[in-house]
Amino acid sequence: MRYLSTRDTSNDKKYVTSAEAIKTGLAPDGGLYMPESIPRLSIDDIKDLSSLPYEKRAGRILSMFLTDYDESAIEEDCRTAYSEERFPGGAAPLVPVTKTWSALELWHGPTCAFKDMALQIMPRLLSRALTMTGESRRAHILVATSGDTGKAALEGYRDVDGIDITVFYPVDGVSPMQKLQMTTQQGSNVNVCAVEGNFDDAQTGVKKIFSDEDAAAEADAKGFFFSSANSINWGRLAPQIVYYVSAYCDLATSGRIEFGDKINFCVPTGNFGNIFAGYIAREMGLPVARLICASNSNCVLTDFIRTGTYDRTREFFKTMSPSMDILISSNLERLIWLTSGADVTADCMKKLSEDGKYTVPAETLKKIRSAFSGYFADEKTTSETLAATFRDHGYLADTHTSVAIGCYNAYKAESGDETQTVIVSTASPFKFAHDVCTSLGYKPESHDPGVLLATLERVGGKAAPAPLGKILALPVRFKDTVKPDGMKNYIFKG
Ligand SMILES: *Cc1c(COP(=O)(O)O)cnc(C)c1O
Repeated sequence: MRYLSTRDTSNDKKYVTSAEAIKTGLAPDGGLYMPESIPRLSIDDIKDLSSLPYEKRAGRILSMFLTDYDESAIEEDCRTAYSEERFPGGAAPLVPVTKTWSALELWHGPTCAFKDMALQIMPRLLSRALTMTGESRRAHILVATSGDTGKAALEGYRDVDGIDITVFYPVDGVSPMQKLQMTTQQGSNVNVCAVEGNFDDAQTGVKKIFSDEDAAAEADAKGFFFSSANSINWGRLAPQIVYYVSAYCDLATSGRIEFGDKINFCVPTGNFGNIFAGYIAREMGLPVARLICASNSNCVLTDFIRTGTYDRTREFFKTMSPSMDILISSNLERLIWLTSGADVTADCMKKLSEDGKYTVPAETLKKIRSAFSGYFADEKTTSETLAATFRDHGYLADTHTSVAIGCYNAYKAESGDETQTVIVSTASPFKFAHDVCTSLGYKPESHDPGVLLATLERVGGKAAPAPLGKILALPVRFKDTVKPDGMKNYIFKG
């Protein structure tokens, strides 16, 4: 399976291996890597996968995409990444909540957010890619985070041989717990720095360094090169395809559906990475009717799916679901490429960078709308949904998941669709304890992470995940703050 850039409009396309795509992250022309074709899964394949544990499902599916990797190496990496030790109780449990929807809990890993699903395995794949491509330089991972990616990447890459990592986070754009998780990170190859700006400023800064030839030359002279752990990297996306298939298997084996029945997924969305992995699963042949794209008040994707115009030139809101406070959803580029090809993609991305907006051709919009529905939940709806889900169904959801539940409720009311739906639950409620408690009607006494955890344990009636309790006792190691135009210097300062 070969990979190519979403912006490669030439007749003589430049193909790379999956190891190369994972190693470099972004293509040299600024596009994102995509497989040249999507492998197929039959219903019989899905039945086979149903009898296997998560790590084996992951090994099978990843091997279909990463064909240049040794299959037994992938299996070994999946066994380690999705072990009971890292994901106590299972990597992606499906919890039935009402007659029509179940929660796919993707936050039982070491950092309590769904980013672990990819970032526990990706460092292993990158490490192998360095060997497979004969790379002698060190890799320096640059991450812009809206909160959860940073911690998950730090935890995934800590003390991995041949790799260093720097994480930039928006100074006021992450929750107190997210900040503490990052600034207390342990490991000898890690660095964390705040950026004066929002997530888009941090992400734009990182993208600039990636495309800066002087920076690449300076790094090369010092014996390293830049790589990415953001969801623009194919190594992030591929592992996310697995849990869509896995959820389907579990829904079928539990008897809620028959093999072959179609289901819906509703996904709390920011950078469009998670839900796009669901689209790939659908393209592979997984019986998926609709993908419901759930946004918060930063509803740029809702508007796009409804009108075909993507317009980032709008007010930016800081919400209680900060990991979705994003106005440039990078992975949408992959969807446009898959539905419409490189010419349309390159044209749209040029307009986005010049005018901050673009409109896709009618044909593209039609294809997108045949799979996706777009909804958003404002702050009030999110809070009320969180409280009602706990009150009526005894299910404690975090703020991001509550955005999705609110959107699903709106979708169901509007469409009358009773299809079994999986709502992708992306974070532990304890990671966003302040807003979860407030939504439930209990105002915590302070923003101190320890007080917040204890308050939610009392109010929610369950124990906080062990990894969150542990960091309360760790010293803060990282206190630096830079302006967006100071990010490059920060990397090279030594
Ligand atoms: C990252 C994140 C999201 C958004 O996922 P995308 O892949 O960026 O769309 C949603 N919820 C949580 C908790 C996250 O950490």
